[in-house]
Amino acid sequence: MNSLIAMKQLLLSYLNRGTELYDDPEKRHKILIINWFGTVGFSITFILGINAYLENNISLAITLLLSSILFFLSLQNHWLFLKQYRFETSSTLIQLSLITLMLYLVYSGGSNNTGPLWVFLVPPVMMFFGGLKGGLRNTLGFILCYCVIMFYPDDQLLQASYSYEFKTRVLYSLMTLTFLAGYYEYSRHQSFLHVKQLSEKFEQQARRDHLTNIPNRRAMMEQLSYEYARVVRNNNTMSILLIDVDYFKHVNDQYGHKYGDEVLVKLAKLFEGTLRKQDMISRWGGEEFLILLPLTPLNDAYEVAEKVRLTIKNHPIEYENTTIPITVSIGIGSADKDHTVDSAITRADEHLYQAKEGGRNCVYPQMAS
Ligand code: GH3
Ligand code: MG
Ligand code: MG
Repeated sequence: MNSLIAMKQLLLSYLNRGTELYDDPEKRHKILIINWFGTVGFSITFILGINAYLENNISLAITLLLSSILFFLSLQNHWLFLKQYRFETSSTLIQLSLITLMLYLVYSGGSNNTGPLWVFLVPPVMMFFGGLKGGLRNTLGFILCYCVIMFYPDDQLLQASYSYEFKTRVLYSLMTLTFLAGYYEYSRHQSFLHVKQLSEKFEQQARRDHLTNIPNRRAMMEQLSYEYARVVRNNNTMSILLIDVDYFKHVNDQYGHKYGDEVLVKLAKLFEGTLRKQDMISRWGGEEFLILLPLTPLNDAYEVAEKVRLTIKNHPIEYENTTIPITVSIGIGSADKDHTVDSAITRADEHLYQAKEGGRNCVYPQMAS
């Protein structure tokens, strides 16, 4: 039992070889197909080649063994260049080997005229490798070659001999299978796109605050570290404003939580309207907001903070015929190559505390503007 599990593990890790190098599911899918098909192609043609040799069908044996070598080389080429993502060469090589082998089997009849039965491999394999468009193009090219070989006058391009009914039935089944494989590939791709869209949507939602629809703390943390890397690289300064709504508990207590929510939504809109394009606002938590000001030293940040404070003060918020003046207190912190983002947030928090202590509706540290 244990050896069975070990063998299964071995087979799986062999077939998945290289997929761990990529996150993109389409690339992983392609690697898997090449691993899988290269291996199956290589072993089946090898076994059939030996079989043909034992049956004394030397030309068939040579063709099959040559194909086996080609499949083997495609696999080696694929593994050698896995990191460079050069799958096109290996996949073209595998497809070409397959098409040439199939045409040879049609031409020669293979073993006891069973050769044409293998052509049904072509549509699914071409779709796997080339997607709908490339797969259809290659399969139709193959069907055209099949028709030329099979229906050339007086069977001049055929070594084997088939009945007219056999040739046409194989052709019709091949065309039906092409349609089915194409449809399957189309639905697979559509579901892939759908799932991708959904995951992008969820990813977006996970970065937004559901009440105010502005970026949440998680999104801001990512942006802060991205921006800070730039600060260190270019040796400049960025600032953050930590904003807290004054006496917000009173708003909730007096008008209800629903009204409090509406105030937060309207505040977020007011903040957004005040800022420059390069600035970013986030809901940091509860009734606290954090604004990131890239490329902004402390004195400039103070001016922005004052502008934000005055905008809120001068725009009393209205909701269901009630108007209530809202004010905010703001603490500023700056980060440069000697002061990390964390220390800037701590300083902004300390300044915010001072602003509350200093009477609210003000900005700390205070500066002459
Ligand atoms: P201060 O001026 O000292 O900041 O007073 P405050 O009342 O604003 O401060 P405190 O931190 O004591 O209260 C914050 C309140 O914000 C308490 C909480 O119920 C409210 N709050 C936090 N998040 C939300 C929310 O999403 N919606 C609503 N309506 N209220 C919220
Ligand atoms: Mg608070
Ligand atoms: Mg507050």
